[in-house]
Amino acid sequence: MLAGALALQGDFREHLAIMESLGHRGIEVRTIEELERVDLLLIPGGESTTIGRLATEYDLIEPLRERITEGLPVFGTCAGLIFLAAATTGADQPQLGVLDVVVARNAFGRQVDSFETDLPVAGLDRPVRAVFIRAPWIEKVGSNVETLASVPGPGGTARAVLVRQGTVLAASFHPELTEDDRLHRMAAAMVGDS
Ligand code: GLN
Repeated sequence: MLAGALALQGDFREHLAIMESLGHRGIEVRTIEELERVDLLLIPGGESTTIGRLATEYDLIEPLRERITEGLPVFGTCAGLIFLAAATTGADQPQLGVLDVVVARNAFGRQVDSFETDLPVAGLDRPVRAVFIRAPWIEKVGSNVETLASVPGPGGTARAVLVRQGTVLAASFHPELTEDDRLHRMAAAMVGDS
């Protein structure tokens, strides 16, 4: 299996290192030709407005949308989740709209810009160590989107932080910055599911 990481900005190298440690080949994706070759696409954490702006400049928005809609499995983390989503509350920025969720950026507020927690995940026997860095959370989840993990939000309402819609998997935290490779294994297991 060839794993590609969208390499416009952000921590794409960390994603590729995990895929390689799992025995998969990895390439950095910046062109339509590279996008055509991969069996799985990772969209890293970083700055979603920058990723969106560069993807627009590199003419990658439509090709990404098309390939993902046609079933290319994709795993986005943090800024990657925002880029995959349908909309962002209170802002307009380039997004792929292939994941039926509305996200709120930097949702955890300044005082807890970054934190770590043990997060129970549906289908995994032990919690994952989740690293949140100026993270978004998901405000609205479409009916065809499965919530795999959530955290308590304001007023006690749970906010989704790990979701899956078909072969689109997205986390508002950074599994690529930990030793725990179970979510990358989950992403790799989507290859062949579409
Ligand atoms: N706050 C960033 C954004 O809005 C995401 C942060 C991250 O990827 N760690 O794009």
